[in-house]
Amino acid sequence: MRDLRISVTDRCNFRCTYCMPREVFDSSYRFLPHEAILSFEEIARLARVFVGLGVQKIRLTGGEPLVRRDLHRLVSMLKELPAELTLTTNGSLLVKQAHELKKAGLDRVTVSLDSLDDATFRAMNDADFPVARVIGGIEAAAAAGLGPVKINMVVKRGVNDQGMVQMAERWRLSGHIIRFIEYMDVGSTNGWRMDDVVPSAEVIERISGHWPLEAIDPNYPGEVAERWRYADGAGEVGVISSVTQAFCSSCTRMRLSTEGALYTCLFAQTGHDLKRLLRGGASDDALRNEIAAVWQKRTDKYSEVRTAETAKERKVEMSYIGG
Ligand code: SAM
Repeated sequence: MRDLRISVTDRCNFRCTYCMPREVFDSSYRFLPHEAILSFEEIARLARVFVGLGVQKIRLTGGEPLVRRDLHRLVSMLKELPAELTLTTNGSLLVKQAHELKKAGLDRVTVSLDSLDDATFRAMNDADFPVARVIGGIEAAAAAGLGPVKINMVVKRGVNDQGMVQMAERWRLSGHIIRFIEYMDVGSTNGWRMDDVVPSAEVIERISGHWPLEAIDPNYPGEVAERWRYADGAGEVGVISSVTQAFCSSCTRMRLSTEGALYTCLFAQTGHDLKRLLRGGASDDALRNEIAAVWQKRTDKYSEVRTAETAKERKVEMSYIGG
């Protein structure tokens, strides 16, 4: 166990069509009530137990983590722990919050940006949010000292794949790292089909056609992104191939949902309730034993056994479990 992803909210101000489609997450959708959500104090206590069990890296996510009020308060609580602290965000609120987050102790951010073409991006986020404001957020993060920024682009065939090369060109020489993510069958609301996936091998081939790329070693065992660098020294890109090259066997991640359930896989159907223990007065030792037992018993390898049939199974939504 090396990485912990903590979902701090199931809400988001975007409605990305592949993640929180507006038809499902509309005004009648019932998000978690306030009392169901872990408090910052509860999250920090659990995080301390996880770090005691070997976690070295904590990522705050959601939903959109920056819509949770006063997130910087949680950051300052987690900063006390001997672990790297990062955050994944759609970037929409970074201009306002980057400086405060850095001051509170955040180490780095990853920003999602699926296209540089404004019409394509506005259609994908389905919130009519412009590219320029996300780029402003990336620049604010870098200026605040939260760089190098990783930029996540989910690639969906026929939707935004024609913009991959432009995206690579935009971030070459910037010091930031663009990562191309294979579109996944997370949750059960996005209508995923294998035909929509652009394999990472094709991404590398298409970019290499413009600027040759060479593979480089992972930063650490179990790193999710495969790393490539431009042969001309212009920087690095990453690909995340959870569909075509599953990495279950080296997975070191645990996920804590917004309401305190523990998930051993992004594609899980059920979680393990830690909130009940936490609010029932369990000691740190009891929490540690429970988490260790869940970890030791995990058998998940969904991405290795994925088929068109498994893709239809009911899985937990990414906005709830944390991306
Ligand atoms: N709201 C934040 C954001 O936009 O980055 C954090 C949560 S979001 C669920 C985390 C990441 O998951 C984003 O980079 C998003 O693009 C990615 N994601 C969501 N649904 C996906 C899918 N079906 N396949 C691949 N990546 C997905």
